[in-house]
Amino acid sequence: MTAAAGASPATPRYDAVVIGAGIVGLATARELRGAGRSVAVLEAEDQVAAHQTGHNSNVIHSGLYYRPGSHKARLAVAGRDETVAFCRAHDLPHRVGGKLVVATEPEELPRLAELARRGLANGVECYELTDREARRHEPAVRALAALRVPGTGVCDFRLITEKLAELFVAAGGELLLGRRVRQLVRRRADVVVRTDAGDVLAGQVVACAGLRSDELARRSGHGPGVRILPFRGEYAGLREPAAGLVRELIYPVPDPDLPFLGVHATRGVDGHVHVGPNAVLALAREGYDWRTVRPRELAGTLAYPGLRRLARRYWRYGLDEVRGSLSREVMAARVRRMLPDVRAEDLEPGGAGVRAQAVRRDGTLVDDFLFVADGGTDGGADARILHVLNAPSPAATSALPIAREIVARLTGDRPAAPSEVAPR
Ligand SMILES: Cc1cc2nc3c(=O)[nH]c(=O)nc-3n(C[C@H](O)[C@H](O)[C@H](O)COP(=O)(O)OP(=O)(O)OC[C@H]3O[C@@H](n4cnc5c(N)ncnc54)[C@H](O)[C@@H]3O)c2cc1C
Repeated sequence: MTAAAGASPATPRYDAVVIGAGIVGLATARELRGAGRSVAVLEAEDQVAAHQTGHNSNVIHSGLYYRPGSHKARLAVAGRDETVAFCRAHDLPHRVGGKLVVATEPEELPRLAELARRGLANGVECYELTDREARRHEPAVRALAALRVPGTGVCDFRLITEKLAELFVAAGGELLLGRRVRQLVRRRADVVVRTDAGDVLAGQVVACAGLRSDELARRSGHGPGVRILPFRGEYAGLREPAAGLVRELIYPVPDPDLPFLGVHATRGVDGHVHVGPNAVLALAREGYDWRTVRPRELAGTLAYPGLRRLARRYWRYGLDEVRGSLSREVMAARVRRMLPDVRAEDLEPGGAGVRAQAVRRDGTLVDDFLFVADGGTDGGADARILHVLNAPSPAATSALPIAREIVARLTGDRPAAPSEVAPR
């Protein structure tokens, strides 16, 4: 850190400021510090991993689902290997036991075959199995056919993020918790980062603000072209002895029109089995339950044309998800499609996470990770600010290579190209 020339001597200046101490922000900060920059991370909450990173399925995805050639496909495949290697190197809990994607209805069989093709195109090891073969891996499962993905695993992304924070600070980075960023003001040579506890100056800024990434972009004069819609995903724990029905990870065949993978059963690193998540519109950006309502935020969400168009297309699915949220029996019935012996009484309340999903005004969901720098490009050495505007699943798995990608964009090691969503 240096004192800024021309500014108050008390105004700290860093080569780079990262906003948000989720896994993407801290991985990026560590990468920037490793490149020899002075770096500060500004986080609104008083702990790291407070939002998406600390409230998710903790699955190390393999890269199966994503469109070949997409950022998600490329960065998830690299991220899987790097996440496992990171956990090994730092003695963090993880397990690579593989997963089964199970088709339970005849119309899912072509989709399962397509998933296998996608997986192979992405370089992901996967095998199609008959129902009998599937039961060798997961004896309690009911399936017409299944896809086995041996490289999928589980970890604890909160612990990984805490380790990234520890390494970053040990390398001389500054982690400033409880510092909410209000606005970014671009000047010729630097950026004024306005926080609720005073200004900070930065040569370059990377905003990894998750559920608030569009808001921050808008407040900083970047029309992001998208709005973050908060979709809560609720989990239930599976009590013993029903938990014994699940050895590793059991997933349904996802609906290709939806960005969510469907309710799955996961045995975590602590041995606890959870099922979920569903997907309901949260009534606040950090709305972890139905009681958390922020009327102004909700009004903004409901007034967004993209939500109305999305709702017109998916109202039936949306209502079904609300029913699943309010009724343990509906959630159990979903799990029973894959695991017929699960009863409603086996489910106990679990946690919830809120996904930050970017949606365009026309109601289409931004499918891929989305990075937008000043001028609407995707980076370059003269870029002052880079906003990570869409980093939903599998961004926790992909965080280490995402961080390298961001640094390459900021140093100009990667040629700038027009971004997917032009700024307005
Ligand atoms: C229900 C659910 C299940 C998921 N399952 C998986 C999975 O199994 N595997 C996987 O790979 N991914 C999964 N994901 C996705 C994964 O959790 C996210 O992709 C990842 O955590 C994104 O990290 P992030 O750092 O971008 O965001 P976050 O973790 O949300 O961090 C953003 C940070 O920015 C801070 N912030 C926001 N605004 C400001 C501001 N103005 N000033 C300062 N700080 C600010 C926030 O407080 C927050 O700490 C899941 C997500 C959810 C919600």
